[in-house]
Amino acid sequence: MLINFGKTEKLLNYYEDQFTPCDQCGETEVTYRIVQNYFYVLNIPILPEEKFTSMNCTNCGYNHSKVMSENAKMYEKLSPTPIYLYTGSIILAITFLLFLGMSLYTALFSS
Ligand SMILES: [Zn+2]
Repeated sequence: MLINFGKTEKLLNYYEDQFTPCDQCGETEVTYRIVQNYFYVLNIPILPEEKFTSMNCTNCGYNHSKVMSENAKMYEKLSPTPIYLYTGSIILAITFLLFLGMSLYTALFSS
């Protein structure tokens, strides 16, 4: 059986910033995209990885994939990692706790 797993990315949010000039042409037609990488197994999100901000200028087409500016940090704070990206981890944790609870129960009350 082939298990499909890997890493993919999700667009969390985008902002059209009218105050920050483009690094290349100086026009203020810049769009920021906040992207979250995450791991998945069988299309179920397991664990979020890094978040990054990419910048795109609609005027000259300039593109920067890892923006490190103060603005980028602010946008990343405004776009929290969605809880459902932890779905797989939550399922695993619940399963583990259930097993733990069951073995404790068995150990305590079966004699
Ligand atoms: Zn530009």
